[in-house]
Amino acid sequence: MLIVNRFLFLAGLTLLVAGPASAASSCGPDKLGTSRDIAIDGGEGLALGLQSYPTTLALHDHEVVLTFDDGPAATTAQILNALAAECVRATFFAIGSNAAAMPATVKREVSEGHSVGYHSNTHPARTLRLMPLEAAKADIDAGIAAVDKAAYGEASAKPRGPFFRFPGFADSPALLDYVHARGMAVFGADLWASDWQAMTPQSELALVMGRLEKLGKGIVLFHDSKMSTAKMLPDFLRALKDKGFKVVRLTAGAGPTPVEHAGPEWKSTTEPIIARTLGGHGHVHDTTEKAEPEVK
Ligand SMILES: [Zn+2]
Repeated sequence: MLIVNRFLFLAGLTLLVAGPASAASSCGPDKLGTSRDIAIDGGEGLALGLQSYPTTLALHDHEVVLTFDDGPAATTAQILNALAAECVRATFFAIGSNAAAMPATVKREVSEGHSVGYHSNTHPARTLRLMPLEAAKADIDAGIAAVDKAAYGEASAKPRGPFFRFPGFADSPALLDYVHARGMAVFGADLWASDWQAMTPQSELALVMGRLEKLGKGIVLFHDSKMSTAKMLPDFLRALKDKGFKVVRLTAGAGPTPVEHAGPEWKSTTEPIIARTLGGHGHVHDTTEKAEPEVK
């Protein structure tokens, strides 16, 4: 009896030390799991993701970071269920007004070990770039406050997470400076599922796996507000496992953040799209590339 009690005590202690949000999965080898954490230092003035910036996270081959924008939404619970079933941790770039409307969902994201970042308060249709600067800053601030209040019960002067993504990737030099001054790294993406376009879950799965296998690794952008993404996510996570991909979680922490830089031939993919979408207000006026509809 004594031996049994001691065993239980030690088992309990191990659980305490590991903590519920540990990256190491206790799901067993048949699940995808979360292989490791990368600490993001929000004080380094980072802008990451090769679709928009010439710098990205230094991931190993076959490592992915999963990110979800525009929630919380009606479909977010389904997304969280799929991630939980595979012990996978992701980053949610939440819209402040949505977080205020569905605080329990944001709390669930945090309690299940996910990272929560910011994506403005209103996701303005004309983008933060085209708003008057002070109004854009106010929208960013209100989004941070709303998400932190939903997630943690209160908003303090400093954002709780060092993660920010511009709606539609429509940043500006002044807004990049502002987000950095507020202690956050700016996230673009290395690839995406194009889930702002209507498509079947099967088409979305084939599209994103094809892009991922071509690139070999990267920060992947989805929208937890999209039913096609919610429906394909279990199959996507199984496909990652089958193809030998590993999931990396972003956490807040001291730097240096591991980054890598693109070569001199690097070009933004998102600026030509923004330029077309916003009628010539992008940084680059290149209409020769293959068009892809507006990034949400
Ligand atoms: Zn968005």
